[in-house]
Amino acid sequence: MMPYFWSDLIVKENGVEKLTQSLGRELLSLVQKEANSIWKPFYWKQLPLVWLGKNEILRERLLEFISDYSTLSSREEKLKHFKTCFFASPRNELFAILKFIFLLEKLPFLKNAPVFIIDSSVREASKHFIVGNSEREILKTVKKLEKEGASGNFDILGEEVLNEVKADANLKEYLSLLKITNVEVSLKPSALNYNLVRLRDVFRAGHCGVTIDIEQYNSRDLIFEMFKKVLDEDEFKDNKQAGIAFQTYLKDWEDSLIELLNWVKRRKSPIKIRLVKGAYWDSEVNNALKEGRPIPVFTKKRQTDLAFERACQLLMENHNIVRIAVASHNVRSVAKAMALANVLNIPKEEIEFQVLYGMGHPLMKGIVKMGYSVKVYVPVGELITGMSFLVRRIIENTSQGSFVFQSFGSKASVEELLKNPVEEV
Ligand SMILES: Cc1cc2nc3c(=O)[nH]c(=O)nc-3n(C[C@H](O)[C@H](O)[C@H](O)COP(=O)(O)OP(=O)(O)OC[C@H]3O[C@@H](n4cnc5c(N)ncnc54)[C@H](O)[C@@H]3O)c2cc1C
Repeated sequence: MMPYFWSDLIVKENGVEKLTQSLGRELLSLVQKEANSIWKPFYWKQLPLVWLGKNEILRERLLEFISDYSTLSSREEKLKHFKTCFFASPRNELFAILKFIFLLEKLPFLKNAPVFIIDSSVREASKHFIVGNSEREILKTVKKLEKEGASGNFDILGEEVLNEVKADANLKEYLSLLKITNVEVSLKPSALNYNLVRLRDVFRAGHCGVTIDIEQYNSRDLIFEMFKKVLDEDEFKDNKQAGIAFQTYLKDWEDSLIELLNWVKRRKSPIKIRLVKGAYWDSEVNNALKEGRPIPVFTKKRQTDLAFERACQLLMENHNIVRIAVASHNVRSVAKAMALANVLNIPKEEIEFQVLYGMGHPLMKGIVKMGYSVKVYVPVGELITGMSFLVRRIIENTSQGSFVFQSFGSKASVEELLKNPVEEV
């Protein structure tokens, strides 16, 4: 592996940190103005999540409830699961209200009321993060984003498919989505059951770009191999619209990113790299501990943040062969990317920022106001198939260490929010 020498001099001599601070303050004030306005829907949608983040017992119970909810179909199963999660001791903060809802069950004409209330509440919560899969809803979202100066990147929900029939159904949904409108899509290879034939079909149809999501660590290498194999084939070797996500919470991120860049150099056509921190932190840690193997991810949040900034620098220094998409809701991480691009003379239109639908709306508006392009990752699908996605978003919004919670929930100071991660690592 070729070693990579950090051009720390570039960073120090050009005052990147100073620029990061001033861009960060500008962006933070735009974001806070948007997010703290009681006249904007985001404020009201974020309130329950902030509250949940402050109530640890209820948060745990809710996550346990939602994780298994999609496997239940009968009324009896749902009620039993609900009672197991929410009525166990110690009592959660909503115990009295939830008990009251269950009293309705005793009245014959309101027998179905508790299940109805549970189903509707889960459905409403999911609408915050997921768009319905009808053509009308997708086109409405495309138009709405365009009106706000952004664009969309659509993902069909339904990961970890373990059978061919479901994988074929997912492929069909991708192909129909690509027929509805010319949009960029994101794809989880597990939704296609890691099948190369299906992957080629999506690349063939995705003229506006297909970005491959990275999932759990145990499938990471397989996904990179599949991606490289297809893009090295004659049919796709000149495809410049393909992209792949890259996670910086993995301890081996540096070797793995250099290997990816070396492959891009050999291939000669550029690709897009979507830089992310990684969405599976809790399960990566828990699974490794359970299986008695080394934990593959950093265990201090600031280590992941620092790796993100360094990876960002590495990608920008190679921007002749990769197009970078910076995907983060962390104003500090975004401001650092803006500062690096500025110092490395990369024009604004050559970097892209990405946010998740429902989570990053105020940030999207702020970045657009500062003259950069923003793509919103829009998950499309039905509630049942979107449960794992919903769980990851609830974790992110309610974790004490996450930027979103620190800025909206615990209202950390500007200095704390923009702190250089290098100081703590
Ligand atoms: C458009 C878009 C696309 C995405 N696509 C993918 C994808 O394909 N694959 C994927 O895995 N994720 C993906 N994500 C999610 C992403 O990886 C992060 O989970 C999410 O964006 C939160 O990171 P942040 O920078 O926004 O927030 P921050 O609050 O700054 O960071 C939170 C992140 O820090 C890390 N972290 C938390 N606690 C610790 C700890 N104790 N030690 C070390 N690290 C910790 C975790 O990665 C956590 O998600 C995507 C995000 C966006 C916006």
